[in-house]
Amino acid sequence: MSHLQIQHLHKRFGAFTALDDLSLSVARGEFVVLLGPSGCGKTTLLRTIAGLEHQDSGQIVHAGRDISRLSPAERDYGIVFQSYALFPNLDVGQNVAYGLNRRRAGREAHRQRVDEMLALVGLPGTEDKYPSQLSGGQQQRIALARALATRPDLLLLDEPLSALDAIERVRLRSEIRKLQQTLGVTTIMVTHDQEEALSMADRVVVMRSGRIQQVGTPQGVYHAPSNDFVADFIGRSNLIDAQASDEHHVRHGGLTLHTHAGLVPGRRYRFNVRPEDISLLDGWAPVANSFHAHADKCEFLGAFWLVTLTPVAGGMPPIVAQFSSNYLAGRPIQPGALLRLAIPAGKLLPMQVSA
Ligand code: ATP
Repeated sequence: MSHLQIQHLHKRFGAFTALDDLSLSVARGEFVVLLGPSGCGKTTLLRTIAGLEHQDSGQIVHAGRDISRLSPAERDYGIVFQSYALFPNLDVGQNVAYGLNRRRAGREAHRQRVDEMLALVGLPGTEDKYPSQLSGGQQQRIALARALATRPDLLLLDEPLSALDAIERVRLRSEIRKLQQTLGVTTIMVTHDQEEALSMADRVVVMRSGRIQQVGTPQGVYHAPSNDFVADFIGRSNLIDAQASDEHHVRHGGLTLHTHAGLVPGRRYRFNVRPEDISLLDGWAPVANSFHAHADKCEFLGAFWLVTLTPVAGGMPPIVAQFSSNYLAGRPIQPGALLRLAIPAGKLLPMQVSA
């Protein structure tokens, strides 16, 4: 049975629909990430779960109980926001104990819990410091300690890493994940960062315009996106429009491409080809789905090169390919270079076109 069930949520702000018949089930102990472009309703969904917004219709059921009408305090979930939101006039110890104070726990139990939480987030002995004396990453660790101090049954994270620098963000994302797994706390996090979502989530919920486009494991949403929006939003994608000439071939510009997919002759399809699935060919041996293209833009991104190419055959739009730096070591690709490429037939995946 699911631990948190969101059923047919609708939320409007005036004439604008922020959540549009949204349903989602979250299992106990799961780490679910809400991912989508700005304005798609991620934060509204998280705030509605927290009780900070109220849905116009629909229900939220937590551990078998309808919590739709409860106040945030009655729900008692741990929440971490994007900006650190620590009380600047309280020291770290008082910040972490903030939720405990309300519960009138004994003083010694308090102190122990604060020590325990600070050790858990890797900042033991900082209880006398003030937020202004801490780095952004340290403040977010304290915010996390505060959110977890009351042993919440649900942890809600609203872009907790987005205010941090790149190195701290990567460090903290694995720390949060490890902590979440150690404690087994059911967690829902909002982000617009694909890499963050893929690296942290048990399941990713891809949203657009207040609706869910796909719910799946990181590998699932990346390798088997349910439609062209998901394919394009997660990672990089070449979306290729082509008409089936027979069950296993399509015409794309001046090219005939072979695919392992079973197609209906005459129908138009949109295919998703990841940049890393495009092969760079050496030599002239015949290879299925090979074509020539000129390199327009060559970006070195460390582990790989990202190359934007214009196919020589007429009618084909530019294509983005990714080649490993090791493979190209000593012979970087220059703009203007003529390359021979191929799209493996098994990598031409027909997509649903999103509404
Ligand atoms: P971002 O990543 O930019 O925060 P998001 O996916 O979290 O985006 P939301 O913050 O949920 O998006 O907002 C969804 C839409 O609802 C936005 O267009 C926003 O302007 C609108 N919205 C959110 N809160 C309110 C509000 N209190 N009043 C009016 N409109 C709102």
